[in-house]
Amino acid sequence: DVTDVSEVVTQVYDNFKMIHPDYVFILDDDVHQSIQAQIYRNHLEQILIILLDNAVKYSTTRKEVHLTYEQDSRNVEIAVQDFGEGISQANRDRVFNRFYRVDKARSRTKGGNGLGLAIAKRLIEGYHGSITIESAVGHGSVFRISLPILSKEAADRLIKKKQQAQAANTDISGL
Ligand code: ATP
Repeated sequence: DVTDVSEVVTQVYDNFKMIHPDYVFILDDDVHQSIQAQIYRNHLEQILIILLDNAVKYSTTRKEVHLTYEQDSRNVEIAVQDFGEGISQANRDRVFNRFYRVDKARSRTKGGNGLGLAIAKRLIEGYHGSITIESAVGHGSVFRISLPILSKEAADRLIKKKQQAQAANTDISGL
């Protein structure tokens, strides 16, 4: 499926601003044309929700979350940055394991069961993308995801195919 990345990022950003009025969300987009990635829209939405949800959950002292995205010739990179508790080097890989939570007692009070990042990573890798963490304990974390983009031609072709398929479906249901 082809998805307009800027559209989904903006939508999730707007929702979080509304849901968490006590946080400052900053969206920094250097991109002025639309970016098409070959990912199912709901999957991209899900990934962003997991990352933003964590950014909010694990940064209660400085309530600020930055969201940026940019593209090069092959990939779109989306970064979610918080200024919260951070993740130690030793835990940076483990947080992607299912059911792994850094501080079990403290985390329990915040809800969740350690599945979010495992799901996000699986989804991203399913689309030949990647996810990385930069973090400093006590200062915060940046989660960066990278997804392959589609050239304008390839995106147009796919969108056309999709429209044709939809038109064909409508015809059939109209019989
Ligand atoms: P849920 O299943 O609801 O997502 P969760 O937040 O515990 O629960 P993950 O999203 O997989 O699960 O995160 C795993 C662990 O990684 C968390 O319990 C937390 O300890 C740590 N973590 C995730 N994101 C951050 C972050 N932005 N800052 C600090 N720690 C984080």
